[in-house]
Amino acid sequence: MKAVVVSGQDRISVASVPEPSIQDGRDAIVRVLRSAVCGTDLHVLGHCGEAAGRFIPGHEFVGEVTETGSAVASFCAGDLVAGADYTACGHCWWCLRGDHWHCPERRFFGTGSIFGPVLDGAQAEFVRVPHADVVLRRVPAGVSLDAAVFLGDTLATGYAAVQRAGYRPGDTLAVIGGGPVGQLTSLVAQACSAGAVIVVEPVKSRREFAVANGSLAADPGAARALADELTDGRGADAVVDAVGGGVGLDTALRLVRPGGTVVSVGVHTDQAWPLPAARAFADELTVRFVIGDFMRDAQQLGALLRSGAVDPTVVASEHVSLDDVPGAYHRMAERKTLKALVLA
Ligand SMILES: [Zn+2]
Ligand SMILES: [Zn+2]
Repeated sequence: MKAVVVSGQDRISVASVPEPSIQDGRDAIVRVLRSAVCGTDLHVLGHCGEAAGRFIPGHEFVGEVTETGSAVASFCAGDLVAGADYTACGHCWWCLRGDHWHCPERRFFGTGSIFGPVLDGAQAEFVRVPHADVVLRRVPAGVSLDAAVFLGDTLATGYAAVQRAGYRPGDTLAVIGGGPVGQLTSLVAQACSAGAVIVVEPVKSRREFAVANGSLAADPGAARALADELTDGRGADAVVDAVGGGVGLDTALRLVRPGGTVVSVGVHTDQAWPLPAARAFADELTVRFVIGDFMRDAQQLGALLRSGAVDPTVVASEHVSLDDVPGAYHRMAERKTLKALVLA
């Protein structure tokens, strides 16, 4: 089959590789109908090193089940499904609490060995899905493939961020970063009772995109003044950091009000970050780190799409073939596009 292959840092190509096959009774094979390129893919390509060997990237996908292992009970060939971006067993202590990320059986599709053992991803014609009964969900009725491909990660991440932000209806929320996760977090927050939503983003076209989609927007240097204007100088009630690293956290802390919450959903790889502990104590700040969980939140996410409350396809800048996926990575890295959807 045709697949995108990562063979080391910044080495990406399209190649012919063996089709995946059932390796365990709980596996399913899915013919990928739509996948997507994510900021996490760009991060993985830039940081994967040689340890993972060659692997197929991509963790956002929808497709048609073509084959199931003997223990798969919920799906059969022909079912249209959306996948979570990582696997979980569904029955351990963590899974039963709804915290699938911490499952010992977690394998993150298409991210090399950065988040644990390697599992080939979905920027390919077919993908093997372990623990298919847990990892897959039927695509909700009336939801397009272009919308459903956001369920497994981007939308799940934005939803988890909003859920954990702990704001009250009408509160002012700031979102650091106008990439796909930041923009979808803003749409979810609008659908979930936030008052003003401020997207904080240095790139003008991304600020304009946020405003065209119902948010306010500000350059990082002007964001505090806008938050103050809306809150009589208190600052944002909650801030979602969709950038990651020290930059995202520092920007978030500059905007949050006393007693407020910072939720970071950006990727972090730094070992340390100087938390201003005296202020955090005096201001009773909450700073938390959150990873999306489609397996836990699939019903609510499906409802947001079916109702039309959130249309994630607005962030899809282009549709590309598998052959053009390496080009799509570069265009996203250069911020010429927000997000590429891949037609297998
Ligand atoms: Zn992703
Ligand atoms: Zn588990």
